[in-house]
Amino acid sequence: MSDSLPSPADLHVHSNRSDGTESPREVVRQARAAGLGLIGLTDHDTVSGWEEAASAARETGMGLLPGAEFSSKHRGGGVHVLGYLFDPTDAPLASLMSRVRDDRLGRAERLVGNLSRDYPLTWDDVLAQRSGDATIGRPHIADALVAAGHVADREEAFRGPLHPAGRYYVGHLAPKPADVVRALVGAGGVAIIAHPAGRGMLSDEAIRELLDAGLAGFELGHRENSAQGAARLREIADARNLIVTGSSDYHGAGKPNVLGEHTTDPVMLERIVHAGTGAEPVFG
Ligand code: AMP
Ligand code: FE
Ligand code: FE
Ligand code: ZN
Repeated sequence: MSDSLPSPADLHVHSNRSDGTESPREVVRQARAAGLGLIGLTDHDTVSGWEEAASAARETGMGLLPGAEFSSKHRGGGVHVLGYLFDPTDAPLASLMSRVRDDRLGRAERLVGNLSRDYPLTWDDVLAQRSGDATIGRPHIADALVAAGHVADREEAFRGPLHPAGRYYVGHLAPKPADVVRALVGAGGVAIIAHPAGRGMLSDEAIRELLDAGLAGFELGHRENSAQGAARLREIADARNLIVTGSSDYHGAGKPNVLGEHTTDPVMLERIVHAGTGAEPVFG
């Protein structure tokens, strides 16, 4: 059956419903132009792009795995959990997402307040960079800093005024990763840790707790993973027969990541499709 699933598959892609720079429709179009057969749309803490992406996928003959990237925090460090094929109307999961989105708004406003001590910048300048009710984050503030000429690009903004160790930074509310995983499983979804060997590497104990909560696997193919960390996680994945994925984390013009720079093995895609019961994939 894996032969019949669309490929190649890139399972971690952002649109302007969070911090990507292209609409869901445009992202599907770009993915097709890049030669991909299927994408996972995984905007931060929202499902608002699902409908538009699904209709674009049907029209253009692309595959779509509806998903999201959930913000969470473990011992103060950010952990991103990719969720696929969950029921977006599941009350506990929907409320978890809307609480995070709401808190992100106040947090961004406080961050802009702090920045405005040294960088002439208003909240309206930031809202001008946001598309509709997109999940707001530091990338939109970065874009406002770029538009005002304070920095050259998002990268410079993240290295400077938006850096978590800097004087302006404000964090946002984030649930524990195990709680996100449990909520996802409860909503029929499949939970995969995004870029698990990036800046913060989870301890073996934290990984065990996540697996007990129902974690399905790791995003091992991602430009931010260290080779050493990914090798360690592959051992765990092999020993426990977990799902492993590879993806670009495309953000349009917001990041250098290129569609299809990492892809997911069809056998692994099939396992995700088989395990996810809360939403329907589109096989254009
Ligand atoms: P936030 O969740 O609001 O704290 O912002 C984090 C988001 O910023 C992540 O989703 C990343 O996609 C994005 N990000 C982090 N570092 C960079 C960077 N150097 N350039 C562009 N985007 C970045
Ligand atoms: Fe992002
Ligand atoms: Fe992420
Ligand atoms: Zn991402």
